[in-house]
Amino acid sequence: MDPNEALRVLHAEHDRGLAIISKAGSTEELESAKVSVLGRKSPFTEVQRSLGSFGPDDRRRLGAVANEVRTSLQAALDERRAALSGLEEGRLLEADRVDVTLPGRRPRPGSLHPLTIVERQIVGIFTRMGYRVAEGPEIEDDWHNFEALNIPPDHPARTMKDSLYVDIPGLLLRTETSAVQIRTMESQEPPVYVVAPGRTYRREAVDATHLSVFHQVEGLAVDEGLSFSDMKGTLEAFARAMFGPEQRVRMNPDYFPFVEPGAQVAVSCFKCGGVGCALCGNGWIELLGAGMVHPKVLDNCGYDSERYTGFAFGVGIERVAMARYGVPDMRLFVEGDVRFLEQFQGVA
Ligand SMILES: [Zn+2]
Repeated sequence: MDPNEALRVLHAEHDRGLAIISKAGSTEELESAKVSVLGRKSPFTEVQRSLGSFGPDDRRRLGAVANEVRTSLQAALDERRAALSGLEEGRLLEADRVDVTLPGRRPRPGSLHPLTIVERQIVGIFTRMGYRVAEGPEIEDDWHNFEALNIPPDHPARTMKDSLYVDIPGLLLRTETSAVQIRTMESQEPPVYVVAPGRTYRREAVDATHLSVFHQVEGLAVDEGLSFSDMKGTLEAFARAMFGPEQRVRMNPDYFPFVEPGAQVAVSCFKCGGVGCALCGNGWIELLGAGMVHPKVLDNCGYDSERYTGFAFGVGIERVAMARYGVPDMRLFVEGDVRFLEQFQGVA
């Protein structure tokens, strides 16, 4: 390259550089413009490299021009870079802009679980009658779950088939809330009026009417002179408070080891009024087991069974919830399906 050609290239590159720098629309485009104008393979760099082959005068003259061109292009690059970064920031801000005129996102209101609703209703009815709430552990020992409740060692309820045992010998997941009866009587003198809501466990095959983990409310009243009619009156009052003032209660004899006599308690169907429908079949809905506390159970807890009598009952919360809300399948209570659960919004 001769000096005249070198000078021509420097001027041309200056013009070309200013043009493409000013046209760069983004920082990426600006970077490639910089490479094209001042990079290692650019015509400008090629001229600089050839300066060494010129005479001293040309070298000095052309070197000064090259420096001016470089300084000018560098200034143009810096200026354009500053302008672009402002522009890009503005674009980002625009994209992130909050439109305050858009409607807000409403949080979906939750609801109480139907079993919680029914448990509270049952417990509320009895606490208004003067009962207090008692609690016990879900892992029970043989004494509280069986022995003290007059369930003998050879009773089928004790087999591995029906109960869920834990790894520690003599302990199991309580098969009913009745164990709380024993714990309550062991810890206080009569009179006793308690309800004990809670979870219970059985080794059951799960289907539409059975779960292996389910809920009960246990009731226990022990006092001087309590009779079967006190029990019937109490359970009638419960049924009317729960399902409506027209309810009738029917008791059929039944056997539970910890009561004598025992009864299966049904309420007249609150849907058909007792004439018979798809929900009830024969006009009655079996809701709970009940009975007069067996004297042996009182004795086991150190109560004087000559002086005190009592009655006990156990209500299945799932069963009441199914009857009350027309739920066809018990598994719905544990599946966590929002379409099922959201139907209880506003129910308390
Ligand atoms: Zn009916």
